[in-house]
Amino acid sequence: MAEPVRTVCVTGATGFIASETLRQLLAGGYRVHGTVRNLAHRDSHAHLRQLAGAAGADGANGADDRLHLFEADLLQPGSFDEAVQDCQTVFHMASPFALTVQDPRRDLVEPAVQGTRNVLESCRKTAGLRRVVLTSSEAALTDQPDSSHVLTEQDWNTRSTFDRNPYYLSKTLAEREAWRFVEQQKPGLDLVVINPFTVIGPSLAPHLCLSNRIFQYLMSGAYPAIMNLHFPFVDVRDVALAHIRAGELPQARGRYLCGCETLSMRDLVRLIRDSGYGEGRRLPRIGLDFRLGDWLVRLAAFRETKGIRDYLRTHVGNVTRFDNSKTRRDLGIGFRPLRETILETLADLDGWGHLPPAAK
Ligand code: NAP
Repeated sequence: MAEPVRTVCVTGATGFIASETLRQLLAGGYRVHGTVRNLAHRDSHAHLRQLAGAAGADGANGADDRLHLFEADLLQPGSFDEAVQDCQTVFHMASPFALTVQDPRRDLVEPAVQGTRNVLESCRKTAGLRRVVLTSSEAALTDQPDSSHVLTEQDWNTRSTFDRNPYYLSKTLAEREAWRFVEQQKPGLDLVVINPFTVIGPSLAPHLCLSNRIFQYLMSGAYPAIMNLHFPFVDVRDVALAHIRAGELPQARGRYLCGCETLSMRDLVRLIRDSGYGEGRRLPRIGLDFRLGDWLVRLAAFRETKGIRDYLRTHVGNVTRFDNSKTRRDLGIGFRPLRETILETLADLDGWGHLPPAAK
């Protein structure tokens, strides 16, 4: 007898990570409820409809009838009730993702924390819903990496405030709220959390996500010099697969760090130059990636917007080290080689027209 089709919900379905997750779910035969902020904004979710049409090409039946979009807003209680109906698993991915905002409480922390509570409340009311997979972040582990410490699932960010790295605060408080909710309210479902590092890769969504924007900044002269920065990258396709496995495997438990490899800004610039995509573009040349350079960068950060300034002050000179063995072992994720991911990201950004124009 054929297995019944499983129904799952993806919140924030238009997002960079969510769109890839939705693609893999449809290709895997799932029925998917996706939430979007505004159904009338057809441009923001047209790519999801296209994905559903294309999912048939993977051998499954055409997936048009397996994708249903719902309108939901993180700040509206009850907003997710309809979308999670009949679902066995919910992937809660919607959350504001920005470093620079006008009002950190209103624009970051409230939607992240209240939104997580609202989604979990809707899930609690839904009979048959067994698991919520929450997209947390490296931001919930630390906002200032320590080169001598290897991050694991035990680490928690205790330093962010409304004033210092508020995006990091929003992700930390949202994850803490999710754990508090399941521990105190005993809603009859379990929680599994994915903590991705900096997610890059080919994008199905037309907008340029903040993490892929690193490439655009690097090639447009926004970084005047090579700084002592290190990026803990991971491929969006691996992050999506980790979420799906976390939803499927009954034995999945707790948090999962999702990172592939940390690359220095110097090595990233070299890779872009060697790929040919740097030609005619304004890649940084001067090196400030030494101890005195770190001080100069921290001083120069005064001229940047607050979000960038916070990021530079807490990250320059520090290397993010992490242990991804629990994710590889429990979820069976063999991370894609980073070089391939970067080359595919560059080609994809070029295809979307997201790279700065090259001088002839
Ligand atoms: P993204 O493309 O900016 O996606 C964010 C999604 O959240 C969008 O669909 C957005 O909807 C939705 N959203 C934001 N505010 C909302 C609100 N008030 N109500 C309903 N939906 C709202 O970014 P992403 O990289 O895919 O991020 C997805 C998740 O991964 C986030 O939780 C982020 O914190 C986490 N994460 C990302 C990275 C990374 O490097 N990319 C790393 C670690 C964790 P609209 O389209 O309507 O704006």
